Amino acid sequence: MSTLKVDLDLVQKYNVAGPRYTSYPPATKFTDAFKWPELAKKISVNNETDRDLSIYFHIPFCETLCWFCGCTTVITKDHAQGLPYLNYLEREVAQMAARLNPKRKVVQLHWGGGSPTFLTPDEIRKLGGIIHKYFKFADNIEAGVEIDPRRLTREHIVALREIGFNRASLGVQDFDPQVQEAIHRIQPRDLTQQTLDWARELGFGSVNFDLIYGLPHQTADSFNRTLDTVLEMSPDRLAVFSYAHVPWVKPAQKILEQKILPTAGVKLQLLKNVIERLTENNRYVYIGMDHFARPDDELTVAQRNKTLQRNFQGYSTRGNADIYSFGMSAISQIPDAYWQNEKELPSYFAALDAGRAPLTRGYLLNAEDKLRRETIMRMMCDLSLDYAAMSQKLGVNFAEHFANELAALKSFEADGLIQFSQNGFEVTDTGRLFIRNLAMCFDNTLAPSGERKHSRTI
Ligand code: SF4
Repeated sequence: MSTLKVDLDLVQKYNVAGPRYTSYPPATKFTDAFKWPELAKKISVNNETDRDLSIYFHIPFCETLCWFCGCTTVITKDHAQGLPYLNYLEREVAQMAARLNPKRKVVQLHWGGGSPTFLTPDEIRKLGGIIHKYFKFADNIEAGVEIDPRRLTREHIVALREIGFNRASLGVQDFDPQVQEAIHRIQPRDLTQQTLDWARELGFGSVNFDLIYGLPHQTADSFNRTLDTVLEMSPDRLAVFSYAHVPWVKPAQKILEQKILPTAGVKLQLLKNVIERLTENNRYVYIGMDHFARPDDELTVAQRNKTLQRNFQGYSTRGNADIYSFGMSAISQIPDAYWQNEKELPSYFAALDAGRAPLTRGYLLNAEDKLRRETIMRMMCDLSLDYAAMSQKLGVNFAEHFANELAALKSFEADGLIQFSQNGFEVTDTGRLFIRNLAMCFDNTLAPSGERKHSRTI
């Protein structure tokens, strides 16, 4: 039986703006003072190693805008935009591949967006050809692609499989017709089922569903019906995200304010239901803050062995890989730096036309940032910290170095969110719902609460 508590006083106290920590420092700290010559040096040092590679491709196009969407997209029905975009992607890949150590193998490939399946099957094959031309894949590569079940053909899945994809992530969000209408994303169950069937028939080893809680008209009852359907369809993994309301970044989200958005208390109740229903009878294991995987899934094993990692694409088992990303707005990550590509198509194209890297902003990490990044990452993945293990890993006396942060964390103990022992602490089941708040204690880049440009933690 779950020990989760949804306490409205806690909701009120901790529902503040805060980062999701897919990176530390968060992307809001990236700056355009960051220049290419400096980054080129870091990339060159990074390529003296033979660390594994994780490569990401951003395909920004979608035919219509889902009103909750927080991604960087180009909304168009003009499919003629696909091919020229691929030509620019190839130029970017060629430019970067010349700097990469050819011994480095790709252990993780991810296509996200936007909608990668906006591309035609032949365009998918073309991009696959470009990637295979410039990169060497490891035998056990984890190759995942985001799939929009709407406007999809079996031939798309055939092409994705042909070029090596073995994992698919289906955007679902909610099966309720009223919710779907309110978010401007009509996707009947049959479409999702058809996509799942094709993926399984064609040999995708793992299929994930993305769900979102906190959307208009969602109630405990309505979301329970969605969960019934999900459990019947039985995907291998689920990512269940909290809707991030950031209308100052995504103006279309203002449309949702005219509808009935669940309160923070209802959102937390929805999450509690999700956790209880999905983990019932050990069907799925709750991973980190927002993922669910089967008990024998490698994410579950990694969580158990404390080797789970968190990055821009969510939770992953490929932690020692550096992420090189391609396409408009894509973010890359090596141990010393993060950098992001130009966020609009014209500026992305113009940089490549001029023979420049399409860099727009980034961040160089100092030694202190790296200590904090590792601490936040371990907290969000392991839900506990052992001071001796952290001291060894970070090369500092952890309890002394973070004495102020640990003192700040103490205040959460009284609310039952964390439990200290002599050698460390554990996040409780209830504390897990507020993990972003706990992680914020180690963030020394946070703006005062009224000035934060993040979504709320609940
Ligand atoms: S399909 Fe995905 S990326 Fe495109 S608008 Fe909808 S949520 Fe955003």
